[in-house]
Amino acid sequence: MIQIPDDLLPADGRFGSGPAKVRPEALDYLAMRGDILGTSHRQAPVRNLVRSVQESLAELYRLPDGYEVVLGNGGSTLFWDMAVSSLIEHRSAHGVFGEFSRKFATASARAPHLGDPVVSESAPGGIAVPEPVDGVDTYAWAQNETSTGAAAPVRRVGDGLVLIDATSSAGGMDADIAETDVYYFAPQKNFSSDGGLWLAFASPAAIERAERIKASGRWIPGILDFSAAVTNSRQHQTLNTPALATLLLLEDQLAWLHELGGMQAVAERCATSTGILYDWAEDRDVAAPFVQDPAHRSPVVATIDLDESVDAKQVIATLRANGIVDVDPYRALQRNQLRVGCFASVDPDDVQALTACLDYVIERM
Ligand SMILES: *Cc1c(COP(=O)(O)O)cnc(C)c1O
Repeated sequence: MIQIPDDLLPADGRFGSGPAKVRPEALDYLAMRGDILGTSHRQAPVRNLVRSVQESLAELYRLPDGYEVVLGNGGSTLFWDMAVSSLIEHRSAHGVFGEFSRKFATASARAPHLGDPVVSESAPGGIAVPEPVDGVDTYAWAQNETSTGAAAPVRRVGDGLVLIDATSSAGGMDADIAETDVYYFAPQKNFSSDGGLWLAFASPAAIERAERIKASGRWIPGILDFSAAVTNSRQHQTLNTPALATLLLLEDQLAWLHELGGMQAVAERCATSTGILYDWAEDRDVAAPFVQDPAHRSPVVATIDLDESVDAKQVIATLRANGIVDVDPYRALQRNQLRVGCFASVDPDDVQALTACLDYVIERM
């Protein structure tokens, strides 16, 4: 087994694309606030924690008037079913350019109460944003397709609701929230917390749509009822018990993102990290950025193809044995590839160190 010299190794070897590196300072904060664990989420201390997270998020993304920060249990995957139950009225259109954006389209296609979704698809490595279509009331795509490392623009399409999957972009890429009706995410990527929660910035139009669908008598399971989530969120609560440790880690990360200088500074930090990898790949004969069009290359998740002469699986195993973990490609993609999460918490210096480790390993294979 190749042993990488200590002086080449990054200070922190976690480069996963989700869940991702948790800052040690956040764990200190969690321990410090340990007295809140095991207390009721209906009482003031936990509701103040939820309120602090909501306010901090609203400030980070400069939420337009009337937009609300809504949250609940179940992660982004639950949010897709919630949108199918509570937000899509008759028919949705989807930009599909990887596995996550495909999952939402599939959830909509399976719903017996909705028409067949309109799907605009691009091969992995490209992007797809839906076109306006008559009869479509909801447009959906991902700002960052974590499975391929491609990033798409966030802007209004047609006159329906715009739902943006920001699970891996929120907290690492900026967006004009006024261009969306629901910008939703989970805290285990740029927000360096644990999974299990979904959060969303919701426009007045989205809230009104959910209320109208509910009033129409459609059967909506309680956990998938967006209006109920809005009612609870206005009281700084969730429908059912949330993981308090997740909220505390999220609160600490938000304070840190503000300290870094807010979204513009954070976005630059992430783009610096991925830029180091894209430049490295372009400079090496045995590597190349997977996403051809530089404009579509993700600033938070870098995917790097390796030449067939270099076995990515072996590189990944060697890195893991040296404490550098989770640079595996998305499994369904089945490519000879590295995928590196460069979320907000990842230090650009550690990404630089990673490239030196890659050179060291590849030269000796
Ligand atoms: C990670 C991810 C998801 C899934 O999030 P869960 O909280 O595990 O459900 C969805 N969409 C994108 C773009 C992701 O990166």
